[in-house]
Amino acid sequence: MSASTESLVASSAATTAKAWAAQSATSALAPFSIERREPLASDVVIDILYCGVCHSDLHQVRDEWHNSIYPLVPGHEIVGRVVKTGRGVTRFKEGDLAAVGCMVDSCRVCPSCRAGLEQYCEHSPTFTYNSEDKHLGGPTFGGYAESIVVDEAFTLKISPGADLAATAPLLCAGITTYSPLRHWKVGPGQKVGIVGLGGLGHMGVKLAHAFGAHVVLFTTSPAKVADGLRLGADEVVVSKNADEMRRHASSFDFILDAVSANHDINAYLSLIKLDGTLTLVGVPEAPLPVAAFNLLIGRRQFAGSCIGGIAETQEMLDFCAEHNIVSDVEIIGIGQIDEAYQRLVKGDVKYRFVIDMASLKG
Ligand code: NAP
Ligand code: ZN
Ligand code: ZN
Repeated sequence: MSASTESLVASSAATTAKAWAAQSATSALAPFSIERREPLASDVVIDILYCGVCHSDLHQVRDEWHNSIYPLVPGHEIVGRVVKTGRGVTRFKEGDLAAVGCMVDSCRVCPSCRAGLEQYCEHSPTFTYNSEDKHLGGPTFGGYAESIVVDEAFTLKISPGADLAATAPLLCAGITTYSPLRHWKVGPGQKVGIVGLGGLGHMGVKLAHAFGAHVVLFTTSPAKVADGLRLGADEVVVSKNADEMRRHASSFDFILDAVSANHDINAYLSLIKLDGTLTLVGVPEAPLPVAAFNLLIGRRQFAGSCIGGIAETQEMLDFCAEHNIVSDVEIIGIGQIDEAYQRLVKGDVKYRFVIDMASLKG
């Protein structure tokens, strides 16, 4: 049987792994046992060392997007060490560092997949958690776990000297901001806004700064102004201040909105200049009302962007390694996850929680 045929065969062989799961939209995360498949020919088995805490984890734990499958084991910012490989694996060997982001598979043959845009797979990618597990059935389980088994085609390389905890958030927060900044060709001579200084926003500030743009951070939190400047913003606007907002009317080439909660998008559309673009990466629970005149005037474009493809994720990891860019993290034990979620809801994050998985194993 070839590697590709074998990888499509549902396997009943599996091992048990420790994880933390939510059993419903209202229950707190708690210890849970999951199954991981025995490695198929193209699989790597990764012992998870760190996993970042994305606001998408919280949205899905609480079923805010109305598509959660329980039990739900979140986590898609995974860094670990390869402990076993399938016999057809060529890019990884036991002992290597490895990383996994938001996807673990896709159809691989549709035009999007062929273009390296697996996140826009016409048949939907298999997300790292809360997707259908093609091998074992039931939902896929994410990185709040001691191990994961992933096809090497969806496994990323980490440079040996990397700060592993601070690298983990690049797998979602990093690529989700890198991809639109690259797609809309952000660079020198451009005025670029980043809205919301959380996990995504702080990576957006660092990356837009590294790409050479003039970066303006918009925050609702006056206490984050100094950090915004330290992280690479040229200016910080406290968005609750209407006068400060008005000063920037119709002046931005590009704004990336990384806010997790409902907010007035029109306030930001009015800051875009002729033919500029406002791109959403944040996913508030409710639809956002858009005033038509805010688009008509200045032929403004309102867009969205979803994570990034596998090749682009590797490109981003390599770019960050070359430019010494990592996330600013607060390392927590898995037992502090509920407290971390409560702080995320309040916007009290500096600027990504990362779970040390030793806390789950101990
Ligand atoms: P996060 O760390 O919680 O940061 C969100 C930030 O938004 C907060 O720190 C806060 O920044 C701001 N904010 C929160 N509530 C607000 C409110 N009511 N009004 C205005 N601003 C508010 O979240 P994250 O992990 O960066 O994720 C951000 C969003 O992106 C989430 O919705 C997440 O699901 C989504 N996401 C999308 C993709 C994608 O592919 N498009 C990928 C990953 C995540 P300030 O204190 O600075 O105002
Ligand atoms: Zn995420
Ligand atoms: Zn596809």
